[in-house]
Amino acid sequence: MNEPLSITGSNSMQCNECPAGVMHMRRVTYFTWLGEELVTVPNFPARVCDMCGKREYDQRAVSVLSMILNPEAGKPTRRIKRVPQPDSYPLNVPHPRSTNR
Ligand SMILES: [Zn+2]
Repeated sequence: MNEPLSITGSNSMQCNECPAGVMHMRRVTYFTWLGEELVTVPNFPARVCDMCGKREYDQRAVSVLSMILNPEAGKPTRRIKRVPQPDSYPLNVPHPRSTNR
């Protein structure tokens, strides 16, 4: 007996801004600023409340988009660490199992 109006459905959920609203998956236009340029992304997946109109963008899509728009996102701000030169390693470190077989 599956109820067709189950709240646990994956595509719609209760709005957290208003008591009666239900958020449905929609395709909306996503706006974001990239530096000084306004970037618009049509057909962006988001949940939209049918009562108050609150939008909640799909977090996976947002993170994918931010990676596309900003390749530096997610990278540490530091430059790549310098790899120590092999001859700067201490020479007196014992090597277990290197001779004793
Ligand atoms: Zn709402």
